[in-house]
Amino acid sequence: MTAKKGKAVKINYKLEVDGEDVDSGELDYLHGYDNIVAGLEDALEGKAIADKITVAVPPEKGYGIVNEEGIQIVPRSSFPDDGPLNIGDQFMAENPDGEQMPFTITKITDEEVTVDFNHALAGKTLNFEVEILAIRDADETELEHGHIHSEHGHHH
Ligand code: ZN
Repeated sequence: MTAKKGKAVKINYKLEVDGEDVDSGELDYLHGYDNIVAGLEDALEGKAIADKITVAVPPEKGYGIVNEEGIQIVPRSSFPDDGPLNIGDQFMAENPDGEQMPFTITKITDEEVTVDFNHALAGKTLNFEVEILAIRDADETELEHGHIHSEHGHHH
């Protein structure tokens, strides 16, 4: 059995960005349903259990390129006074459609705060080392939901 659309795939992965380890662990995902970044999914297509791959995923096939419009400067007063603000803090904003949009604080002055709505890994090349641990057929409900149902893979 190989990784292709409609298969539930379990991987062990290590992600390195700019020479630093940023993430690692096991992940169950549904192949072919945009559960993982496109460049990694492409690289896993057709691979079998116990196959190991290393792949450098460019930003376009990872978390996207940096959108300058996503970087905004807002008055310090638009944040609550109760508690310090730190560079790297993450908050949620709500857009007019009621959608939750995470952002990160990237700069703080007395008067102003620079916030970045880009994904933290936007503009970065993602260096993955991956081993395929298991592959199975996804069940009907999983295919309908577009994700798999297991302790690691279920996000409702
Ligand atoms: Zn579900």
